[in-house]
Amino acid sequence: MAITPDIYQLKISLNHIKPAIWRSFQVRSDVKLSKLHEIIQIVMGWENYHLYSFHAGGSTYTDRASVEDDMYGMGYRDGLKVKLSEVLSDVGDSIIYRYDFGDDWEHTLKLEKIFAPLPGEKYPVCIDGARACPPEDCGGIPGYEDLLRVLADPNDEEYEEMRSWVGPHFSPEKFDPEIVNIGLPRRVVGGAGGDAARTGAKKKARAHPEPSAEPRTYITNMMHFLNEDGLVPMGQPDEFYAMLNYFGDIVKAASSHPTDARFCSTVVCRGESGRRRCGSYLTIAHQPGNTIHWQCSECGDQGFISSWLGTIYDLNEAVERDPTQRVSVVITPDEHRLLKQAITTSQKEDTIISGAVSTPDGVILSGGLDGFDLLLGSIAFNANHAKTAKCQKTMDKVYEKIASVVEG
Ligand SMILES: [Zn+2]
Repeated sequence: MAITPDIYQLKISLNHIKPAIWRSFQVRSDVKLSKLHEIIQIVMGWENYHLYSFHAGGSTYTDRASVEDDMYGMGYRDGLKVKLSEVLSDVGDSIIYRYDFGDDWEHTLKLEKIFAPLPGEKYPVCIDGARACPPEDCGGIPGYEDLLRVLADPNDEEYEEMRSWVGPHFSPEKFDPEIVNIGLPRRVVGGAGGDAARTGAKKKARAHPEPSAEPRTYITNMMHFLNEDGLVPMGQPDEFYAMLNYFGDIVKAASSHPTDARFCSTVVCRGESGRRRCGSYLTIAHQPGNTIHWQCSECGDQGFISSWLGTIYDLNEAVERDPTQRVSVVITPDEHRLLKQAITTSQKEDTIISGAVSTPDGVILSGGLDGFDLLLGSIAFNANHAKTAKCQKTMDKVYEKIASVVEG
């Protein structure tokens, strides 16, 4: 029988900044350093697109793929092969974690506590912390302090530029461990509540005629999907484009919303429920640090999307933010589906269509008056060029609904 590993309670702090940016979290002591790096990225709120290293006892640990082979002669060791317990074993001791060798974010990782896993508790788990993670590529500690100074003063001449760079949802003092925990790959460690229960669940699932897939958590960096010009790369497998469109639709929906409030979108879940596609609507919300969280209440799939700001899917700039200029129109889900297929003209129209909210009473379109004016023009054009009588009839109906609100 496998020996149940200890749990380490770690405190990670970003060095050289006050007030402290820190997190307290618990992980298996036998976690590999390369995996610990991924956990730290989620716990801190980084976006995992730069190199990293751990420094302990005179050695440097990183991913083999990220450094030249000959650097291993210079004290580099493969983080994929080393367990945390091999470099950190006494309470009170600490090691250094570095992320992004350009901005050079240096963190101290201190071992606070060692204990046996609690029955039924899932690890890793974040238990506390303070302040948001700095945005990627802001120029290290000096760059971030500069950014905070500008953001604190709306009269500063750089304010508009910086606010638009960090996005409307960035809030430096916000931190919520519960949000972090949604993103962590959490599992029960050892004991009767753990492996045994999981095996039991698997057996049961196999006997069941329609086994449900385990809910999945997707961590998506939009930049990783796009080429260096920010465009959709060519020659990829179909599944690549399917996923890109899916995440693109989620970004469009999220960026079309003028507030941070969680809402039920019209984006259809691609998860699996039984043997079929789930097909429920996703709920979407913005989170501190320009991360979008999406979740399906039906199958449990969820994900976090980062680095979407300024991509081709970001509709932020076309959103009408003045509440007195915004109007809403209710249409049916079928009418909305048709609009989504037919209207591909301007960003202003897209914020209205992509940002639509699903409710039991229908689909609510919201946006600025000028966006709705454009939309009316497009709908009239599409009705005149509709391929079928049914399609034309639906377009006419939507036109009437919008016109009666916008013009009436
Ligand atoms: Zn689903």
